Amino acid sequence: MLFIASPNNPTGNLASRDRLERLLESASNTVCVIDEAYIDYAHTTHMELRKRFPNLVILRTLSKIGFAALRVGWLVGPRALLQEIDKVRQPYNLASLNQELARLVVTELSPLISEHVYDVISERERLLEQIQGLDGYAVTPSDANFLWVKTSRPAQSIHAHLRSKGILVRSFHERGGRLANQLRITVGTPSQNDRLIEVLAETQ
Ligand SMILES: *Cc1c(COP(=O)(O)O)cnc(C)c1O
Repeated sequence: MLFIASPNNPTGNLASRDRLERLLESASNTVCVIDEAYIDYAHTTHMELRKRFPNLVILRTLSKIGFAALRVGWLVGPRALLQEIDKVRQPYNLASLNQELARLVVTELSPLISEHVYDVISERERLLEQIQGLDGYAVTPSDANFLWVKTSRPAQSIHAHLRSKGILVRSFHERGGRLANQLRITVGTPSQNDRLIEVLAETQ
């Protein structure tokens, strides 16, 4: 099996359509899984590739739009494959209450969630611009609810400074190499984001 996260964690970018198509063609005997956990924050989905590639399945989840504790996600794929998965699925693997709540999330609550997602996306774009404007920081465009930030100083020291001010971001310095200067910063509320910029500015 082949797993591809799109948008990817922690870089936040979508897989390119061309490369995916070439991959799906050349791996036609392989089940290819595109993990779209962050799709709500993205400008496009690869769902339509399913029409052309019977070896493609797509994963979705409610976890990244505020409902991680529901433990509900789903897989979209060809019926024949889903029937095989059903054979090994545990009975009652998804509590009926959680199923009912998940139904509410994707129906009645959906306008509220779209509003929240829209707010996160506009804050993400504002944060991107502001971090980009600081000396010693470079940010790549994101299709997720976080930013992938390159720091000219070691990420570890930036992480420690932010932490001392009560701001927790994800640092990848322990992995070393190219990751020693990378932070993943999750988009917060407008006031949290303002505070982040304020504290980052102290590290310039
Ligand atoms: C969060 C996440 C998931 C889904 O997590 P669940 O809570 O188990 O639904 C899947 N893939 C990636 C890359 C994620 O970041």
